[in-house]
Amino acid sequence: VRRTRNRQKLEERQGQADFRAAHRLALQLMPADGDLSALVDRLADHRGRPIIVETTQGASLSGQTLALEAVDRISLLEAPPGQIHQALCHELAHLLLGHLDEDSDNPLDLALAQLTDIDPATIRKFLTRHAYDTPQEAAAERLATVLRAESDRRARKAQQRSDPRADRLI
Ligand SMILES: [Zn+2]
Repeated sequence: VRRTRNRQKLEERQGQADFRAAHRLALQLMPADGDLSALVDRLADHRGRPIIVETTQGASLSGQTLALEAVDRISLLEAPPGQIHQALCHELAHLLLGHLDEDSDNPLDLALAQLTDIDPATIRKFLTRHAYDTPQEAAAERLATVLRAESDRRARKAQQRSDPRADRLI
C-alpha cells in the first residue's frame, strides 16, 4: 500500500511539474495582445510541427485534436467566440502538456478515430474532448481556463494602450 501511495505522490508531483512547465511556456509564447491565433503559430514553431485549426458544423464534440504524421489538426465546433476560445485553449493545453507527444501513454482510440474522415493509419494520437474522464482532461481544462483568462487580460491591456481616452483614465 505504501509503495502504491508513494508512486501516486510521485506521479502527482510529476503532473504538477508538467503543468507548471506548460503554463510557463504558454505565457512566453502568448503575444502581448493575447491573440490566440498568434499563440497557435508560435506554438507550432516551438514544436516544429504545423498546427491546423478548423471549425466544423454539426459535430457532437466541442473540440478534438488529431496528431497526424506531419501536422496536428484541431477541429472546433462552431460556437460563440467565448466558447470557441475556451475549446481552442483546451486543445492547445493538451499540446502544451505533451498529451499528444509520440511517447505519451495516451491510448489511440481507433473507434473514435474512425469517426473522422481521415485514414486511421495516418493518425498517431487522437484526443477528443470529454470522451474520457481522466487526469489529462482535468489538467487540460485547468490550463485552458488559465490561458483564456490571461489572453483576455492581455487583450484588454492592449486595447487600453491603443485607446488614448482609456489611457487618461488610468
Ligand atoms: Zn481534452
